[in-house]
Amino acid sequence: MEVFKNYIGGKWVPSTSERTFESRNPAHWDEVLGVFPDSTEEDVQKAVEAAKEAFRQWSRMPAPKRGEILRKAGEILLARKKEIARVMTREIGKVLKEAEGDVQEAIDTAFYAAGETRRMFGYTTPSELPNKYALTFRTPVGIAGVITAWNFPIAVPAWKIFPALAAGNTVIFKPAPDASLTATYFVEVFEEAGLPPGVFNLVFGAGIAGKAIVEHPDIKIIAFTGGTETGKKIYESAGRRLKRVSLELGGKNPQIVMPSADLDLAVEGAVWGAYGTTGQRCTSTSRLILHEAIYDAFMERFKERVSRIRIGDGLDPEVEMGPVINKTQLEKDLMYVRIGQEEGARLTYGGKQLTEGPYAEGWFMEPTIFEDVTPDMRIFKEEIFGPVLSVIRVKSFEEAIEVANAVRYGLSSSIYTRDTVEAMRAVQELEAGITYVNAPTIGAESHLPFGGVKDTGNGAREGGWTVFDIFTEWKTVYIDFSGKLQKAQIDTWEE
Ligand code: NAD
Repeated sequence: MEVFKNYIGGKWVPSTSERTFESRNPAHWDEVLGVFPDSTEEDVQKAVEAAKEAFRQWSRMPAPKRGEILRKAGEILLARKKEIARVMTREIGKVLKEAEGDVQEAIDTAFYAAGETRRMFGYTTPSELPNKYALTFRTPVGIAGVITAWNFPIAVPAWKIFPALAAGNTVIFKPAPDASLTATYFVEVFEEAGLPPGVFNLVFGAGIAGKAIVEHPDIKIIAFTGGTETGKKIYESAGRRLKRVSLELGGKNPQIVMPSADLDLAVEGAVWGAYGTTGQRCTSTSRLILHEAIYDAFMERFKERVSRIRIGDGLDPEVEMGPVINKTQLEKDLMYVRIGQEEGARLTYGGKQLTEGPYAEGWFMEPTIFEDVTPDMRIFKEEIFGPVLSVIRVKSFEEAIEVANAVRYGLSSSIYTRDTVEAMRAVQELEAGITYVNAPTIGAESHLPFGGVKDTGNGAREGGWTVFDIFTEWKTVYIDFSGKLQKAQIDTWEE
């Protein structure tokens, strides 16, 4: 079992901390994948010094030259996709196909960011004065602190790291403890791609290192993905320091099914949306809102399909749903099963931990369905982040939208309908950063903006072109070639 150091300034550097933590396989808890330092403020300080030093050269390198390195990183990820995916499956339990998709999203992002280094357009606009040009362009901000959740160990950091680097910033990355081993691949990939030392730094740890990154005065951007409560603390602290902050937080995503929907398609969508990644995606479907006209027909097919979900170690290609990430999360899932029962919802499928045979080695749980869920219940309102689905029966389209919007989160949403007016109205009325029509709540593509409204974030959008609003400053330039003093707003134009 390997003992890891932090990666700072192009070298593996021992932490000043004596505390360590292990990353383990959630399907075989005895398997320790690595031991990592629980880093301190001093470790973050060292990373800041390296990132600051590297910023001078990196930020001045022509953007397309930076792009060449990022493209190479994307090619290396592509060549090593299967190998990295296997490690990811062992570390966080996500089934192999999804883990490969996770790496693919990073590959897509690398190529997209590399391409943007030849665009990253600014504006030119007429000046109000003669013989004067007015133009704008994007400039790097400085050091970006990247702090992420464990559930997309390559894709989510890549969403932040590649655009940050493309724009000329340097990066300090603190992965979630449960995804520490997978994070080390960024080091291997960037080293091989020829990224200069200090441009990318990796600091392991949990809250202490995370807090040190948020509080460090020389780290100018905080790009965070994680829970809403952690995000709020970070926003407060970073706000006091006037930092730029991007927050991608929790969700409680609804899938609506209307009477005109293709039911088989809607059933497949709900199974994938609710139980893909064992319900541990920020965009997982956690509320299924069914019109009463199709309720019984839908639920019959849905439960039959759910009963056939193959649960197990994600390395087995037959397995559709892997383990829960760790014991704490499993206990949280089971706690919500109890809460749902106490609140009067009807547990109609699953709800139990799986402990027999191969399941005894890890943290496995049945896919779980609650029916008769109402908007006042905690299982309706709170993010569980597990394979626990709440089903709500509604009488009309209007009620479906009202129920969908009756939570504090607003990340993803979906409607299954063949009625065009309903589809258009849902796009308009659903309070969510993302709406899918006739597709599940999961499935974002890297070249489009990603993020949520309400308590899911602070208005930032990672992914796509909008991510550059997080990682760049605007520089406005006036060039006066009139040869005289021209006063804006005061001088008037005369022929
Ligand atoms: P978490 O909030 O517990 O941890 C996220 C990261 O923050 C980890 O790296 C953690 O070590 C770090 N951290 C913890 N306390 C900190 C502090 N005080 N200061 C700075 N950093 C700190 O989240 P998690 O359990 O790893 O992930 C699950 C959550 O992430 C869910 O709520 C899920 O919806 C959300 N998520 C959101 C998105 C999105 O894009 N919106 C994507 C994936 C996951």
